[in-house]
Amino acid sequence: MTTTTILSLRLVNRVCIKNHRSQLLFVWRSRRDYRLKHLPLFLNVDQKPCVVVGGGRIACRKTKSLLAAGAKVTIVSPQIKPYIQQQTSAGRLTHINASYPSNEFSKELANATLVLACTNSIETNAAIAADAKKAKVLSNIADNPSAGDFLLPSIVDRDPLTIAISSGGASPIMTRLIKQRIEAFIPQGMASLAQLAGEYRQAVRQKLTKLPAQRRFWENVFDGEVSKKAINGDMEAARSALQNTLDTHDIDSHSAGEVYLVGAGPGDPDLLTFRALRLIQQADVVLYDRLVSEPILNMCRDDAERIYVGKKRANHAMQQSSINDTLVSFAQSGKRVLRLKGGDPFIFGRGGEEIETLAEHGVRFQIVPGITAASGCASYAGIPLTHRDHAQSCVFVTGHLKQGELELPWRSLVLSSQTIVCYMGLVGLPTLSRKLIEHGLDKKTPAALIERGTTVNQNVITGTIESIPQLVQSQDVKAPTLIIIGSVVSLHSKLAWFG
Ligand code: SAH
Repeated sequence: MTTTTILSLRLVNRVCIKNHRSQLLFVWRSRRDYRLKHLPLFLNVDQKPCVVVGGGRIACRKTKSLLAAGAKVTIVSPQIKPYIQQQTSAGRLTHINASYPSNEFSKELANATLVLACTNSIETNAAIAADAKKAKVLSNIADNPSAGDFLLPSIVDRDPLTIAISSGGASPIMTRLIKQRIEAFIPQGMASLAQLAGEYRQAVRQKLTKLPAQRRFWENVFDGEVSKKAINGDMEAARSALQNTLDTHDIDSHSAGEVYLVGAGPGDPDLLTFRALRLIQQADVVLYDRLVSEPILNMCRDDAERIYVGKKRANHAMQQSSINDTLVSFAQSGKRVLRLKGGDPFIFGRGGEEIETLAEHGVRFQIVPGITAASGCASYAGIPLTHRDHAQSCVFVTGHLKQGELELPWRSLVLSSQTIVCYMGLVGLPTLSRKLIEHGLDKKTPAALIERGTTVNQNVITGTIESIPQLVQSQDVKAPTLIIIGSVVSLHSKLAWFG
């Protein structure tokens, strides 16, 4: 075996991988560039002066949030709703009976940390934004988020856990909908669990000095008994379970690395399994190939190292043996390594070979099946792979040419009432068509080529086994493509639903 050294030299977010002879295998750039319209922050406004101009419904809503965060709120407005009146009477805020512009407002603005323009006049709000800019005070402008500096997000409150949601002003209704979903998804008891985690944070840091070890410890806690007990409100039992977990935590057994061989499905991220998603979000390092779609990669942890290992036809970013060795090296260095493959890892995925190497080196692994291209493309193209009236069996074959030829068990393929699914068959399609006809398949047998199946770019070309090579050649077809041959293809015209 060749040893592969992972140099953690993060030169401008790059990781270099070299083999035992110090040959550079590849350099990988860790993160794609991305832009945020707003930087989400959690701002401490406790006891800080904040000015709200206006006394209507919006002013009330925003004032509530400011008061909840401990701000010293001053309302500048001639008219106010009863809520503001009540809070003023209770001594929780100051109300100045003045309009904008006024000396009173200018005086308040000079000392403010934040100003919120909540009048019902767009012009007045814009003028307040301009004043705030001059005074270098951050502003929030009702109904015109881009005129000010900050937005007040919707909040899911499980103190100390706070989830803030914003659509950047694009759709408050969408924000509300998402908030409802998160509210339903995160039990109220999560607040107690978060408090408990806060109490134990230092103790865990002291026992487990390395960050990966701490991360694993907490992941186990949040996934297990402690979490259940805290969420159910039994804090005494939760605390004692957490103490016990910490006392008995064996650092060595939890620091061993592991490989997750995960099928990412054919492209649509909604086709991932729950388990795939969980492991994708746990991994420290991700080795992925060409067929894994960008939205799926974006589900990996931000700090996870991402390594592209190929493979496009005849263009392998990394040799298979190097991939196998890299998996072993990373796992042996204690990392949780995600080997993310398109479709299912055990269907034309060489998953078996990678796992064999891991087994030989005693590296722990888990395998997560994925939706293979045949199932994904067939479903999204409305072509059932079996059907009582059309096909009683289905075979998957590779159309990969070896020295320009296809070596397949032709006689067993040309059976009637059988569907043939051909992976990697684009280049060899003319050969496939010719050979099947030579071995007795009816020239009129329906055939389909599905291009980039299950994605928004899906395209289905249908014809017969005789005509399909010509039909495909006349179009600018992009990989990956899957070929389905058999009477079931005739159902496409009736059952196509996607796109
Ligand atoms: N393990 C994968 C197959 C890898 S072989 C799986 O189970 O799906 C690569 C081949 O899969 C491609 O050449 C193509 O034939 C097929 N394939 C994968 N994703 C596809 C997609 N979205 N649309 C069409 N074909 C696809």
